[in-house]
Amino acid sequence: MPDNNVQQYDVIIVGGGPAGSACALALANCGLKTALIDKASFPRNKVCGDAIPGRAIKVLNSINPLYGTAFKQFPYKFESKRTTVFYKRQQVTFNWVLEAYTCARMEFDYFLHTLVKENTATDIYTNTSPDKISVVNNKATLSVNGKTFEAPVIVGADGAHSIVAKQLTSNIVDRNHYVGSVRAYYSNIPVESSNTIEVYFDKRFLPSYLWVFPLPDNKANVGFGMLSSEVSKRKINLKKTFYEFIDQNAVLRQKFRNATQVSELEGFGLPLGSKIQTISGNNFMLIGDAASLIDPISGDGIGNAMLSGKLAAEQIVRCFTRNDFSAAFIKGYDNALIGALGKELRARYQMQRTISQMPFLLDGLFLASRSKFLKKFIQKAL
Ligand SMILES: Cc1cc2nc3c(=O)[nH]c(=O)nc-3n(C[C@H](O)[C@H](O)[C@H](O)COP(=O)(O)OP(=O)(O)OC[C@H]3O[C@@H](n4cnc5c(N)ncnc54)[C@H](O)[C@@H]3O)c2cc1C
Repeated sequence: MPDNNVQQYDVIIVGGGPAGSACALALANCGLKTALIDKASFPRNKVCGDAIPGRAIKVLNSINPLYGTAFKQFPYKFESKRTTVFYKRQQVTFNWVLEAYTCARMEFDYFLHTLVKENTATDIYTNTSPDKISVVNNKATLSVNGKTFEAPVIVGADGAHSIVAKQLTSNIVDRNHYVGSVRAYYSNIPVESSNTIEVYFDKRFLPSYLWVFPLPDNKANVGFGMLSSEVSKRKINLKKTFYEFIDQNAVLRQKFRNATQVSELEGFGLPLGSKIQTISGNNFMLIGDAASLIDPISGDGIGNAMLSGKLAAEQIVRCFTRNDFSAAFIKGYDNALIGALGKELRARYQMQRTISQMPFLLDGLFLASRSKFLKKFIQKAL
C-alpha cells in the first residue's frame, strides 16, 4: 500500500540555481516525474561576479535553441565582447570567442527558474529545505518539514554549502582548492564600454584579481577573491583588502571617484574544480558547486554548473532505461564530466599554481601580448 504521506518522484533535484535549473530543463521531455526543491524563493540574490560565461549560453542552446533565443532577447544584460586586464600601469584587451554576457544573478537565475516553470512539468517547492537525506533500499529519501520525499535518484544542486554532499559523501572543504570572495554593487563607475569586463591584478595578491563587471542601470559588480589557504596563512581580511585594493590602485582610485556603493559587501565561497571529489554514489549525483567545478583561474562556475546539470540529466535517463541506480552505473556521469572538463580544469589549475609561484610570468604575458600573433595564442588559452 502506498503511504500517502510520502511524495513519490522519479527524480528529486535539491537546488534551483543554474545547475539544478539546467538539469530540470534537460529532463523536460523524458517523461520522468521530477521535483525541484529550493530553500529560497525566486527571484533571489546570489553572491557572484555576474559574468555569464560562453559555456552557459552554449549549454542553454544545446538543451533547447529556443531557450538561447529567449536569453538573447532578455533585456537585463550586457553582451561581453572583451576583457581588459590591468597590471602595473599597463593594460591589454583580449577579445572573446564565445557569446557571453554580464547579467545580475537575481535576473539570470530567475530567467532560468521561469524557463523551468513554463516549459517543464517539474513540481517546484520553494522556501523548502530537506532536514535529512538518506539512501536506503535503492531509494533516496528526504525528510522536508515533517514530510517525506522519495525517488530512485536525487541530484544535489544546492551549491557550495551543499547539504546533499554533506549527508551523502565524506567530502570536506580543502582550503587549497577553495576561494573566499567578496562582492558589492556600485553605481556610477565610468566603464570603457558596457561590452568590456575589467580585471585588475596587484603583485601582492597574484593570481587573484579585483573585477569590475558592467551591468545595466549604470551599475557594476565589483569583487575580489583569494585562495582560502592564503587568506588564513596571511591573515587577510578580505573586506578590508577589497577597499584597500581600490584605494591603492591609481586607475581604480580615479574610476571610483564619483562611484557610490549601492549594496552591502557580501562574502561567499568558490569550491574549485582542482581536486578530485566524490560526485556520485548509489542513487545520487552532485552537480555545479556541490560537485566543486569552478575554474581555478577565472572563477567561472555557471557554465560548468549548467553543463554538469545537463550531463546528470543524460545519465538519469540511462539509469531509468537500465533500471540501474547503483554507484557503479551512475559513475557514467563522472566519466562524462571528466571527459568534458577534466583536461581543462587540470590545465587551469596548473596555470593558477604557475602564476602564484612565478608572478613575473604575468609581466611576460603583457610583453607577449604586444605581438599580434602571441596575443591570439594567449587569447585562445584564456
Ligand atoms: C563572489 C563570487 C563571484 C563569482 N563570479 C562568477 C562569475 O562572474 N561567473 C561565473 O560563471 N561564476 C562565478 N562564480 C561562481 C558561481 O556563482 C557558481 O559556480 C554558480 O552559482 C554555481 O551554480 P549552482 O547552481 O551549482 O549553485 P548556486 O548558484 O549556489 O545555486 C544553489 C541553489 O541551491 C539552493 N540551496 C542551497 N542550499 C539549499 C538547501 N539546503 N536546500 C534547498 N536548496 C538549497 C540555493 O538557494 C540556490 O538557489 C562566483 C562565485 C562567487 C562566490
